Amino acid sequence: MNEVAADQGHSIARVIVEIALDKEFDYQIPAALLGQVQIGSQVVVPFGPRTLTGYVVGLEPQSTHTKLKPIKRVVGAHPLITPTIVKLARWMAAYYGCPLEQAVRTVLPSVVRRPERAFKQVWHVTSTVNESVDTCLAECQRRAPKQAAVLIALQREPVMPLPRLTTLTGATLATLRAMEKKGWVELDQRAVDRSPFERYTVVPTTPLPLMPQQAKALELIRQSIATLDPPVVLLFGVTGSGKTEVYLQALQTVIDRGQGAIVLVPEIALTPQTVERFRARFGDVVAVLHSHLSGGERHDEWHRVRTGRARIAIGARSALFAPVTKLGMIVVDEEHEPTYKQEEAPRYHARDMAVLRGRMESCAVVLGSATPALESIHNAQIGKYGQARLPARVDHRDMPVLKVVDMRVEVEREGRLNVLSRELTEAIRLRLDRGEQTILFLNRRGFATSLVCPKCGYVAECSACSVALTYHKATHQLRCHICGAAEKVPARCPAPECRDPAFRYAGLGTQRVEEVVAAVFPRARIKRMDADTTTRKEAYAELLGAFRQGEIDILLGTQMIAKGLDFPNVTLVGVINADTALHRPDFRAGERTFQLLTQVAGRAGRGDVSGEVVVQTFTPFHPAIQAARRLDYDGFYDQEIEYRRELGYPPFTHYICLLLRGPAVDAVERMGQRVMAEVRPQLPSDILAAGPVPAPLARAKGEYRFQCVFRAAQAMACTRPLRTVLESLKWPKNVRYALDVDAIS
Ligand code: ADP
Ligand code: ZN
Repeated sequence: MNEVAADQGHSIARVIVEIALDKEFDYQIPAALLGQVQIGSQVVVPFGPRTLTGYVVGLEPQSTHTKLKPIKRVVGAHPLITPTIVKLARWMAAYYGCPLEQAVRTVLPSVVRRPERAFKQVWHVTSTVNESVDTCLAECQRRAPKQAAVLIALQREPVMPLPRLTTLTGATLATLRAMEKKGWVELDQRAVDRSPFERYTVVPTTPLPLMPQQAKALELIRQSIATLDPPVVLLFGVTGSGKTEVYLQALQTVIDRGQGAIVLVPEIALTPQTVERFRARFGDVVAVLHSHLSGGERHDEWHRVRTGRARIAIGARSALFAPVTKLGMIVVDEEHEPTYKQEEAPRYHARDMAVLRGRMESCAVVLGSATPALESIHNAQIGKYGQARLPARVDHRDMPVLKVVDMRVEVEREGRLNVLSRELTEAIRLRLDRGEQTILFLNRRGFATSLVCPKCGYVAECSACSVALTYHKATHQLRCHICGAAEKVPARCPAPECRDPAFRYAGLGTQRVEEVVAAVFPRARIKRMDADTTTRKEAYAELLGAFRQGEIDILLGTQMIAKGLDFPNVTLVGVINADTALHRPDFRAGERTFQLLTQVAGRAGRGDVSGEVVVQTFTPFHPAIQAARRLDYDGFYDQEIEYRRELGYPPFTHYICLLLRGPAVDAVERMGQRVMAEVRPQLPSDILAAGPVPAPLARAKGEYRFQCVFRAAQAMACTRPLRTVLESLKWPKNVRYALDVDAIS
């Protein structure tokens, strides 16, 4: 099949329709539509008794089917999807194991797909009087001053949107209709962009003279843009080392070559400030694709990219599919971020797809991070990617000192476990005395992780999920963080043989830490930031604003505050318990902990005073914690890569996870066994297969969950036979499955 050229001679269109069927249907292209139907065209087709919209994913000279129905019509003048994106969707469907139709829905935002969505039309007024304007003016000056005002306004600007003209002159639509009758103006409707930037004005910036390391990095990226050698550049630079300035200047190169670019940032970092840095350099050439925009804005921004009016598309994960033509570069900032992996089908990884799209479109790919993913480091080490390092901050300030506090020693000394160790308490006191700010970091929300009966050890669990409920003090409720169920705190222990009235809170949550800190420092201004206190979108911005203004001494929060924020007056970051991330049943736990600690450390001391980081832990000698303490990236990566190699984990294998779930435990497990029994004989011998075993989260939302895990050198060698088995089995209604290729946890 020829996917690149829309061959005009081909009279059969292969179409997928807008209902979830993993099938392509052949349609006849009527003579009248020949040449109009292209790969990526949105078309209207008869489907049984119905009429549906669909997309052309291929053009063929002939079909194996007879009696084909004709395509009814083509929607829009240009195909919505470019051939490369169709190809990308095909690849994604095959690799991640999802229906093509689902992949197409992923690459094409719903606001664009819906035919009823359209551009906003606004009346425009055009002057048609030209030379005779003085005559006209004389005619209406006295009797119709508003008409005169319109004429004068249009002299300066011959075409104006009606709303602006009416505000400017006080004229009404009736005034203008009267002028239209006289032949002085013309009125017509024109499409206008709904711009997400209307409310912002940005101060333009110009390229900064680069530091030597930045210049070297830019040189390598330019080489990649021009020669694709290397095809991918890993930009490994600590926070504040000037990576963004390097992206900006590389983007300038791309624009100067007449090409376009895509910039991916993690959802959490897609703030107005981030976008502003790009807009300040490139103005309207930048389009933002973001779920927080209104549907209309998203529709218009997408079309600005599609038509080439915008050349740089910035957005989270799905912006990778932006229809930028003549693509010169894709930037993936904070490439290690787990949010680049989509949690629902198709479970694609935007970084991996970026590398693939780069290869398909012969464009450079830049992966930037302060703590690159192990996969990316490995690819740089084996020479697959080029690498540029920015080891120092632009402001030449030292990285903060990281102190590890052994909580086992602390418990022994104090005779009990305190939330704040002596070291951390003293460090906070010092900051309060000096009028500096502190961030305390904790990985859990809620007052206490669980409610424990001191007598029988009963732990309050969610009745639908296999997790302990979290106590929320403000509402005096127990809440499940998996399914959201909430219940009242029971008056006595629910265990029938116990019924003891004394429940106790165990573990640590942000609320509990807040109370302890408030008790130790009664005069400090303390605020908590987590998913509970920032349910409103603005609450997050307000809290950060107050912190920046110095209205808060101690900010307490979850990982929300670990990312990309820059507060010059913060000189202390305390990590209450570094072990929470370590004790997860996940081969990436060490990598995550290392990344988290180095990112958190990056928050301390970005101003004139150098910063300090205090990390409390029960496992002070864990390699991830020790490496973070020494800021020893290479040591950590070398050791971790060795460990992965020995155990056959990614990047040395692809990690494929099949999750089965349903309300009846036996049925779920039985289906898992059947899948394994059928697929095992078909797998190449080097593929490691395990399961079914209960998933780490064995029950969720009332369903039992089992998983089968595969590790394969070649993903498709495993997923192809596996999908064949999955699709051939007869599935009971109450068992469902999900396939996750390159699962990240
Ligand atoms: P990163 O993206 O690596 O965190 P940034 O690009 O945000 O780093 O740079 C950190 C700060 O340093 C920014 O305020 C930026 O404007 C400034 N900066 C970057 N490069 C230079 C340079 N060459 N000269 C002066 N200031 C710079
Ligand atoms: Zn639950």
